[in-house]
Amino acid sequence: MEICQVSLKNEISNSYNILIGEGLLKSLAAELKNKPLANAYAIITDSNVEKIHGKKLLKNFQNKNIHSHLISFQAGEKNKTRKTKENIENYMLELVLGRDTCIIALGGGVVGDVAGFVAATYMRGIPYIQIPTTLLAMVDSSIGGKVAVDTLNAKNAIGAFYQPKKVIIDLNFLKTLPKNELANGLAEIIKYALIKDKDFFNFLEKNVDKILNHDPEALKRTIKRSCEIKAEIVVQDEKEKGIRRILNYGHTIGHAIETSLSYEISHGQAIAIGMAYAAKLSAKLGFLHQDSVIRQNNLLEYIGLPHKLSHHKLRPKKLLECMQLDKKIINGKINFILLNSIGDAFISDEVALEDIKNIIERG
Ligand code: ADP
Ligand code: ZN
Repeated sequence: MEICQVSLKNEISNSYNILIGEGLLKSLAAELKNKPLANAYAIITDSNVEKIHGKKLLKNFQNKNIHSHLISFQAGEKNKTRKTKENIENYMLELVLGRDTCIIALGGGVVGDVAGFVAATYMRGIPYIQIPTTLLAMVDSSIGGKVAVDTLNAKNAIGAFYQPKKVIIDLNFLKTLPKNELANGLAEIIKYALIKDKDFFNFLEKNVDKILNHDPEALKRTIKRSCEIKAEIVVQDEKEKGIRRILNYGHTIGHAIETSLSYEISHGQAIAIGMAYAAKLSAKLGFLHQDSVIRQNNLLEYIGLPHKLSHHKLRPKKLLECMQLDKKIINGKINFILLNSIGDAFISDEVALEDIKNIIERG
């Protein structure tokens, strides 16, 4: 088993470990029996994960005579709402679950966000354990304590910073994960390598087949390094005031793509296109070598991710409108993450909207 520590500077009591390994879930019930975190456990999950993994986990808990309940909601980002949160809370109240309850968030990013947010406010805050079941959630949303729900017009508009007691990453979950969901997580993983670690990028290039074929050692190393990079950055800037923004590489354009397509495109696909344009722009402005742009895009393409808008019949004009709405633009300039080289990103407030427009229009 690998361990990645998330040591929060200002809240030592909130520091926690991410455990990474194969089959870790099997021992959870026994561990909690020996060292309880609470008197009762609410396993919150979605309708898909409930069937594949949730019921089994509940059984494990019940076999150990641990007071536990399984609570699920309909899968999908469109259910990441205040209504879903309210339904879960009402049900927990009906079950007379008090403040001595611990939430187990079992699922992808959507479950992590909803269940974590329930934990943040239920009885003024109860502990929770994060068990991410998608690759994306393993390397992204399980680090940093951002929990939230969406509103009609805005993603993650209502939420909190609330850290879990621990995160358990069990590689076995990836075996049941659809292939496109694996690519989704890999887009974020490639992003970590691009912004922070050239050696890791080399490793990904060499081992991409092993990763796609679920080789446990390659997966473990990939997930661990991704968690470390995100944790290092988050620890330096917990509330996203400075350096944490480099995590947004590929996301400024990526978010605009998601909005203009009303989230019909996956997050991984959107940020892959966003990274392709961000790299091109970095080259055009004289920072990044053209060879590096090609290496980045080849890797994205190899795992089946797009790197052009034309792949999605999206009109540049619509996209730019979305970007203008979304981001603060001062004197025609936008805050943008660029690359100096593979493994070295920086924040620029000197990028002109006109430059982005040119890059996107040229395709
Ligand atoms: P993400 O983690 O990508 O942000 P979701 O939480 O929406 O997004 O998960 C993506 C989809 O994958 C959902 O339909 C969810 O039910 C499903 N899912 C999550 N984990 C697994 C798994 N281990 N096996 C199969 N399907 C899963
Ligand atoms: Zn992302």
